[in-house]
Amino acid sequence: MDNKLGVIPDDVWYSKGLKFKCTECGGCCTGGPGAVWISEEECAALAAHFNLSYADFLRLYTRMIGDKRSLIEDPRNYDCVFLKNKKCSVYSLRPKQCRTFPWWAHNLRSPQDWIEAGQLCEGINHPDAPVVPFEVISNSSI
Ligand code: SF4
Ligand code: SF4
Repeated sequence: MDNKLGVIPDDVWYSKGLKFKCTECGGCCTGGPGAVWISEEECAALAAHFNLSYADFLRLYTRMIGDKRSLIEDPRNYDCVFLKNKKCSVYSLRPKQCRTFPWWAHNLRSPQDWIEAGQLCEGINHPDAPVVPFEVISNSSI
């Protein structure tokens, strides 16, 4: 998906954009067990935010899954460790995985995948949602 030339391909099913508006319900920060992948740079920024050493931040808030690092979650309900009162408590420093949701490749594969993603995220096709243009989706997707 390359939109660097500003060309909107006709053959992309969402070339006319997609309806989405985050209601901040916190639904994507909980649910079943999962991973919130986090980079070294994102860990360093959060460590500084909490006035922790990098090593302490890793120990307190992250775990390794295979060779990748994830935030930890509450084992009782699978809430992300930073979900407080259904809100992200580190919103401005949330990892790229969170910032780019719902523009993930597997949500954009087909209209059906988009609809299925909407079963987990109330902001997808929300009646009050604006149409997010293709360019924005393309530049945000991972
Ligand atoms: S589930 Fe969707 S609407 Fe709810 S916080 Fe996550 S992105 Fe926003
Ligand atoms: S870092 Fe924030 S946005 Fe990301 S999963 Fe945790 S609570 Fe949700």
